[in-house]
Amino acid sequence: MRPVTVACLLAACLASGPVSAEPAKPPAATAPHGTPPHATVPLPPPEPPARPNDLSPPAPRVTPLPPERPPELATGRELAKEPEPKPAGEAAKEAPAALPEAPLPPARPPELSGEAALALKVAAPDDAACLRRLERLGARFEAMAPLGNGQCSAPRPLAITALADGVALEPAATLNCRTAEALARWATEVQASARKELDDSLKSLSLGGTYVCRGQNHDTDAKLSEHSFANAVDVMGYGFAKRPALNVTAAPDGTPEAAFLAAVRASACGFFRTVLGPGSDAAHGNHLHLDERERNAGHRLCQ
Ligand SMILES: [Zn+2]
Repeated sequence: MRPVTVACLLAACLASGPVSAEPAKPPAATAPHGTPPHATVPLPPPEPPARPNDLSPPAPRVTPLPPERPPELATGRELAKEPEPKPAGEAAKEAPAALPEAPLPPARPPELSGEAALALKVAAPDDAACLRRLERLGARFEAMAPLGNGQCSAPRPLAITALADGVALEPAATLNCRTAEALARWATEVQASARKELDDSLKSLSLGGTYVCRGQNHDTDAKLSEHSFANAVDVMGYGFAKRPALNVTAAPDGTPEAAFLAAVRASACGFFRTVLGPGSDAAHGNHLHLDERERNAGHRLCQ
């Protein structure tokens, strides 16, 4: 009896399905009395709703999640680019509008771009360009580990072994890039002077000291020397391809050697902020002291 009645009910439902399904909704509002006959129909309706409910809910659940991210993402944007002086009330109202856009960019910039950008800016601001220039000048050098001892410090020192034209530094110099670049540029002038005044080629620079943690003129009570910052170099003499090496000490007036020494000392003032040598004072009687000390208004000391 039951299977028959169920079949009859189903058949009736199927037969009248298209007709009753549509009226089913309107009757609920307009004719509640017409619904009682469908009391046996509750079986079919439960099946369709169960499936759609499972399918439909996930969509709303996925969309609600984004709102939780925006607050963090919004801060990432603010840190990255936009400083927003707007009141908190307006910012909160605008936040939801920005939610759909925020999810995509935020994931990338927050950690990677922020730290990476800062690291790059802090790591090699000036030196990157300086190192490229030093390479183009033909210098041979290697980066060294940071140097420091008390107040002495050289955060990015270089070990320079040779300059343009294979001019050797004897011994190798420990200098920051700016001073190394000044030395490399000046060496090209020294080379030109060697060919002009001595008809010879410069092959080496004899150095007395570069990075040394000490006071000026080796006075422990004096202000720290620029040598304490890898910012200075002492040149003792010059080596040539054919003729004997020439010390910085004064040569007899009127000789090619004297002309050469005068020329290279004068040209050093165009590359270094400080140039001291024989005649300047007792401490520089046998070498040229060249450094890049910063002075007010860019003043130089060229003696
Ligand atoms: Zn010196």
